[in-house]
Amino acid sequence: MSLLNIFKSGKALDRGVHVPEYKEQTAHLPIRRLPFAPMLVVPLSQHAGAPAVAVVREGQEVVRGEPLAKEDGFMSVPMHSPATGRIEKIGLAPSVRGELAPAIYLKPYPSSSQEVLYGAPQDIQNMTPDQIVSAVQRTGAVGLGGAAFPTHVKMRPPKDARLDTIVVNGCECEPFLTTDPRVMLEQPAEVIQGTRIAMKCLSVPRAVIGVENNKMDAVEALRKALGSETAITVEAIEAKYPQGAEKMLIKVLLNREVPSGGLPSAVGVAVFNVATLAQIGELLPVHQGLIERVVTITGPAVSKPGNYLTALGTPLRFALQQAGCTDETASVILGGPMMGPSISSLDVPITKGVTGILVMGRADFNHRPDRIYPCIRCAACVDVCPLHLNPSRLGMLARKHEYETMESQFHLMDCFECGCCAYVCPSHIPLVQHFRVAKQMNRERKARERETAKA
Ligand code: SF4
Ligand code: SF4
Repeated sequence: MSLLNIFKSGKALDRGVHVPEYKEQTAHLPIRRLPFAPMLVVPLSQHAGAPAVAVVREGQEVVRGEPLAKEDGFMSVPMHSPATGRIEKIGLAPSVRGELAPAIYLKPYPSSSQEVLYGAPQDIQNMTPDQIVSAVQRTGAVGLGGAAFPTHVKMRPPKDARLDTIVVNGCECEPFLTTDPRVMLEQPAEVIQGTRIAMKCLSVPRAVIGVENNKMDAVEALRKALGSETAITVEAIEAKYPQGAEKMLIKVLLNREVPSGGLPSAVGVAVFNVATLAQIGELLPVHQGLIERVVTITGPAVSKPGNYLTALGTPLRFALQQAGCTDETASVILGGPMMGPSISSLDVPITKGVTGILVMGRADFNHRPDRIYPCIRCAACVDVCPLHLNPSRLGMLARKHEYETMESQFHLMDCFECGCCAYVCPSHIPLVQHFRVAKQMNRERKARERETAKA
């Protein structure tokens, strides 16, 4: 199996694409716990927003669940100890972005029972929305679908927003990944509990959980957990990529269109990932922090694929060894093949936003086309773009370095880099790479303009 084949065997359709799923390797495997690595590396920035600030010192003993770092302002979350052990050092560690970033090195005690000793029951029913927002922030919860956006920030929408519906994303539309389906199957009560908490916090009367119709077992598990409750519904929707994208999901479930440059709150909606709400449903009632998550480890180069409950801070090298991959030359993608970044260092730790690890042997990883051809204006990319952008035009402007025009006239910033356009392009034009470069160039230009204005 190769990524080239994935790219060739898919079928385009109106908005989005049908891609081969490749989920059979792990879809049926129950969640099981990965052992603790001899050293855990907990980055202080695992989320969108300001990095957390360490509150422990080198040599200190910590227990599992104890705060290691506190949030730095509202747009930030704390970190909690993923294991009982000793702080070895606070220093730099490799990160997903390729650069070194501050992290806490924690050596778990092998003889510890690793029981979570922090936390106490709290009465959510009698909390105000502000109290719930603060409590959610204290859990360190972020979007577990990959974005790692602080969950409590989503629970306090803009003041002028009039929300009436929560949309819960249970699609997991990326090939290979099976984290969310397993969470829905094994923790449906927690998903529902987390949804109720979000509804209470946002004073929203209804919630819709969208699940692709290739996961009917998850639909049934959630409906069974709901019982006679009618404020929350579970909808089975067409399986296609990227059905889990916020704007697509809102359109298919509620027939509302989020305006260009706008947030879901503009159409009265807040969107949460299903695993995120399961974590809230599990952690908030007992006042505990986020210290582990489910990660799908899969791909042709893995002999023991699975859905692993993994301590945050586990180095990729250790996780891959446990999953039966010892090929140091394998190509590793964090997340799915459509949007996940390739990783160059196996010393990178697993963080809150890591949904999966896809491992391809050298022979499998051959998605680069031999040649890039000129655009033939077939409009296939325009037909599949879920956001109704014009990727062909954007690509042409990128080649001419007209980055500002891409943003001001062709809505570059609406592109969330789903890859559908590049997937269907018969000329193999690396459209998404062009768009990433353009966004980065625009960011740098704006930063320069801000500096000039200050001077
Ligand atoms: S332009 Fe962006 S949003 Fe549209 S298909 Fe391409 S990558 Fe996806
Ligand atoms: S799919 Fe490729 S060749 Fe066709 S219009 Fe888009 S960029 Fe051009």
